[in-house]
Amino acid sequence: MDKTFFIDLTRCTACRGCQVACKQWHDLPAEKTHNFGSHQNPADLSFITYKLVRFSEVEVGGKLKWLFFPEQCRHCIIAPCKEVADGYNEQAILRDETTGAVLFTGLTETLSDDEKQEVREACPYDIPRIDKETGLLSKCDMCIDRVHNGMKPACVSICPTGAMNFGDRDEMLALAEKQLAKVKKSYPKAHLVDTDDVNVIYLAEEDPKLYHEFMAADASPSTPTMGRRRMMAKFLNPLR
Ligand code: SF4
Ligand code: SF4
Ligand code: SF4
Repeated sequence: MDKTFFIDLTRCTACRGCQVACKQWHDLPAEKTHNFGSHQNPADLSFITYKLVRFSEVEVGGKLKWLFFPEQCRHCIIAPCKEVADGYNEQAILRDETTGAVLFTGLTETLSDDEKQEVREACPYDIPRIDKETGLLSKCDMCIDRVHNGMKPACVSICPTGAMNFGDRDEMLALAEKQLAKVKKSYPKAHLVDTDDVNVIYLAEEDPKLYHEFMAADASPSTPTMGRRRMMAKFLNPLR
């Protein structure tokens, strides 16, 4: 059975422990950043930043509100990035059968620049990043080494508020539904984002567009929906 993250955004305080733990476990260097008028740091995901706590300052019901979104790869159940990559090299992106983790391998460097760009554009959540120096694609790997050894992902282990949860998919779905029913009393617009398509399920208290353009697969009118991304992947790779 797939493993699934349940991330309850109503509990996230934007402490960024998960962001730091991800860097620490993967031995990734810090980013050189600058102040761009937000507490968010850095400004975007990158080849060396797999997890980013996004900050969004919005007006809801005439009141100012901070929304926090710890972003990462969603480990899609049918991953459009893999559907596209398989048309060029079936070993470049793998799906781990025991966990459902979608894994970018060293063979992503065998894809041409255009093919890498197609993989990037296939992702409805704008996750993959390309290292210009090595030509590799990167993103969250579900901490597959930890999970295969009975540990939780580093970001889940560190979270002090219970916002991040990880386990068997059926258990996480049950937890998500239970928590949704609980928070609906305080947040009537609360809902689970793209539950059927992904193994990283967010409980959002507001409209996904208020958190980030790519929080939901079809959050942006200019962003193709998950269904359309899959159609595009099939078009590029008709044998699948
Ligand atoms: Fe691939 Fe994007 Fe889905 Fe991650 S979120 S599995 S990168 S399509
Ligand atoms: Fe980073 Fe691991 Fe969490 Fe993915 S699962 S965001 S790789 S710490
Ligand atoms: Fe939010 Fe938990 Fe990450 Fe802190 S560690 S930013 S509370 S998800």
